[in-house]
Amino acid sequence: MSSLLIQSGRVISPADGLDGCLDVLMENGVIRQIAPDLGLPADEIIDARGLVVAPGFIDLHVHLREPGGEASETLATGLAAAVAGGFTSVCPMPNTSPVNDRAESTRALVERAHQLGLARVFPIAAVSEGSLGERLTDFRALGSAGAVAFSDDGRPVKTAGLMRQAMQAARRLDVPVVEHCEDPTLSSGGVVNEGPVAEKLGVRGASGLSEEVCLARDLVLAEATGARLHVAHLSTAGSVELVRAARQRGVRVTAEVTPHHFVLTEEAVLERGAAAKMNPPLRSGRDREAVLQGLADGAIDVIATDHAPHAPELKAKPLAEAPFGVIGLETALGLALSYLVHTGRISLAQLIALLSANPARIIDRPLGRLAVAAAADLTLFDPDLEWTYHVDRSRSKSRNSPFDGWKLKGAVRATIVAGKVVYRRGEEYRAGHPRSSSGTGLAP
Ligand SMILES: [Zn+2]
Ligand SMILES: [Zn+2]
Repeated sequence: MSSLLIQSGRVISPADGLDGCLDVLMENGVIRQIAPDLGLPADEIIDARGLVVAPGFIDLHVHLREPGGEASETLATGLAAAVAGGFTSVCPMPNTSPVNDRAESTRALVERAHQLGLARVFPIAAVSEGSLGERLTDFRALGSAGAVAFSDDGRPVKTAGLMRQAMQAARRLDVPVVEHCEDPTLSSGGVVNEGPVAEKLGVRGASGLSEEVCLARDLVLAEATGARLHVAHLSTAGSVELVRAARQRGVRVTAEVTPHHFVLTEEAVLERGAAAKMNPPLRSGRDREAVLQGLADGAIDVIATDHAPHAPELKAKPLAEAPFGVIGLETALGLALSYLVHTGRISLAQLIALLSANPARIIDRPLGRLAVAAAADLTLFDPDLEWTYHVDRSRSKSRNSPFDGWKLKGAVRATIVAGKVVYRRGEEYRAGHPRSSSGTGLAP
């Protein structure tokens, strides 16, 4: 038996209709009680005055690079970055080497993550063998091994015919197909967004039409098959409209956006170079505004990082040759609070739903809530703490962030997985009895 008591935090759980000053008692990995002033003894106590206590965050889109890309990230470093960012669960994409297209690989990933004891891992397995777009993988076997969704992320599902087969198979399991929407005939060779920045830099641009044409194809197929489609890293105004309209027709579509797409525009590439190069690329101010609107009105369901580490020597190449992708696990909350909540675009409860309840619903796992008997996965954060992000202190093995040196308002203070503190900011933590006057706890 081990117990942990979180005292006097502002407990917010949109899925449970909770928002108030409450204590949370956890025992043996699950939540036992949520009530004001519990005043119970516990093995460990966290004083959460001034902090928000939220359901643990779930990142539907990360690249952890193991196996095959250990120079850029490993499960150990990636999951350490995850919990430092407040993420208690992450969904790694299958584009490792080899690709996660077999039940044994999926099972090995889950087991290895379990041994590390940091964040939970819910793998997304490949749609096609080797993600080559030729033959469908065995969805049933992969699902039994722990895959929660299917995607060929890094590239789109190659053909409409294969996507229809994938959706039919996914529908039988009632799991989503996650699409990296891109039509290579419209994006190929594109380094940044098509437009003035590409022209200025003298590099090829990738049109937003590439994303929208592929998304439109997939929406037609989702409607025809009744399958669930989840749109990865949505980035254009046109895509927001397509998702909105499809949902109104009853298509089972959900969508995620990344912090870099709701914070930055293509202009960032002029300043940050390859550190601001990702796929889909940063878009125009108009696209960013539409994404912000979609987050506010519910057209977009989830904030996901698309954490994509690349070793420094790879990202040091010239803009046109450097790989696509940025790391993002440790900056997601600070960026979301600074650019969505503190600006009045969305409420704290909306933000928490975007990071916990909504992604939990999409992968259909009993997470993302704070209720008696639920898993004791919690994220404690100070919404007002001002700090500066220094990428050289990142727990990730890679350094490819466009946000190095940025001042952010709002930071994770502690991350709890299955009732165990797996991350704490600084050492402001004590073990002992409730309400001892000497302890400083986690409160500032
Ligand atoms: Zn992608
Ligand atoms: Zn990705």
